[in-house]
Amino acid sequence: MSEQLIEHFIQFSYIAAAVLFVLSLKWLSAPTTARRGVRAGEIGMLLAIIGALLHHGIVSYQWILVAFVVGSLIGVPMAVLMPMTAVPQRTALSHAFGALAAALVGTAEYYLKTPNLDSFIMIALVLEMLLGFLTFTGSLMAFGKLQEVLPTRPVTYRGQNFVNLALLGIAVLIGAYLVVNPGATGLFLVFAGLCLLFGVLLILPIGGADMPTVIALLNSYAGLASSAMGFVLDNKLLIIAGALDGTSGFILSVIMCKAMNRSFTNVLFGAFGQVQVAAAGKVEERPVRSATPSEAASILETASSVIIVPGYGMAVAQAQHKVRELYESLSKRGVEVRFAIHPVAGRMPGHMNVLLAEAEIPYDKLSEMEEINGDFPYADVALVIGANDVTNPAARHDQASPIYGMPILDVDKAKTVMVIKRSMNPGFAGIENELYYMDRTLMLFGDAKGFVGEIVKSLSDGAHG
Ligand code: NDP
Repeated sequence: MSEQLIEHFIQFSYIAAAVLFVLSLKWLSAPTTARRGVRAGEIGMLLAIIGALLHHGIVSYQWILVAFVVGSLIGVPMAVLMPMTAVPQRTALSHAFGALAAALVGTAEYYLKTPNLDSFIMIALVLEMLLGFLTFTGSLMAFGKLQEVLPTRPVTYRGQNFVNLALLGIAVLIGAYLVVNPGATGLFLVFAGLCLLFGVLLILPIGGADMPTVIALLNSYAGLASSAMGFVLDNKLLIIAGALDGTSGFILSVIMCKAMNRSFTNVLFGAFGQVQVAAAGKVEERPVRSATPSEAASILETASSVIIVPGYGMAVAQAQHKVRELYESLSKRGVEVRFAIHPVAGRMPGHMNVLLAEAEIPYDKLSEMEEINGDFPYADVALVIGANDVTNPAARHDQASPIYGMPILDVDKAKTVMVIKRSMNPGFAGIENELYYMDRTLMLFGDAKGFVGEIVKSLSDGAHG
């Protein structure tokens, strides 16, 4: 192939990839078209990689092959072996790797071309390094918190707000100095170090229910770092793909902030200087009422309207198929069954939608929080399956609670509340749930899959009579 033909092919593959990325995002926004969206993204990425590999600037393919093998050795087991419930941690790791790649490319470009870097390129490079390095360490911290190898709740100390802002201020000042004097290589290293440190300190005071928003925000930073890298390398596809990633991550964090009734400043700085009053793992010794699967089956069978509230525990237990059996069994008996989906139920945005879709529960039976909350007072039973924080009434009235202000599913307003979980242990936010001590609440202790299976069996045997 002639040089010119190759160049045309590269440009064509880049444009096709950009169009596919846009379509992918559009299709991913609805469950019915989501699979098509994933395919479009995959084909787009393949085209982008082929185009990049044909680039005339490539000196040797050997190192690319080495990187490909090492990357695949890490990536394939991560994708295949990590359970669905660990997707948030996996996503945090992916952000960390992506951001590190952007920052390292920026570092290489700097050392290859300094001091012959014009101001525009230096601005892009400084932004790439700042966002890339802070996202790298920030995402590793988020990984540690979600994997619970680091404390999941906010870690705060006096003056934290000031320290963080001062550090960011110094990094920005050094960055500005480097734009004017690109030859100051010593300061470049200091700048990189400060950005890495800032990533750690930024995520330290964030925890509990704010983690989902922070993951979306880190996603946005990683995308913006790649977009800045596109300016440095003069690669239009990187600029477009990075901007799409950056803006969609940002939109997702805005949606999640709204869903949790939090402002950005609250998420990022809310825990500063504030001592969390939640007592981790403290379990009260108050009596609760519990019931057996067959008792639960009788109550469900005689109900005319049931709202099922799935949460993280359903994902852990992989109970979604048993839940479908329960849905079918009750529907056959004329019970109206609907599903209430909280925007942060589970451990990733859309977690419950994905699981219930996998179990082939009809989409029209799934209702978003604001759609269904008004219906709880008319529901005979609210059946909570492995959900905890998203049903905690303390979010409505307890100003000392770390989840105060977060909109919750109003399950406590249903005529009877049944909660399937294994123990009285708290959920992700580490706080007690007063729902469990209400007179109208029945605790159904057990693994979600096993317990729902028992209820289904009881219903079909008619054994509960
Ligand atoms: P929670 O984490 O609040 O509670 C899950 C409950 O499931 C636990 O109380 C646990 O109790 C129970 N459980 C665990 N395993 C099983 C099992 N095998 N069978 C039955 N029950 C089980 O989950 P929610 O979905 O209510 O709330 C999500 C939380 O996660 C929120 O705080 C949210 O902010 C946070 N988060 C959400 C993300 C997202 O994007 N959606 C990302 C990161 C965090 P027990 O141990 O007694 O069984």
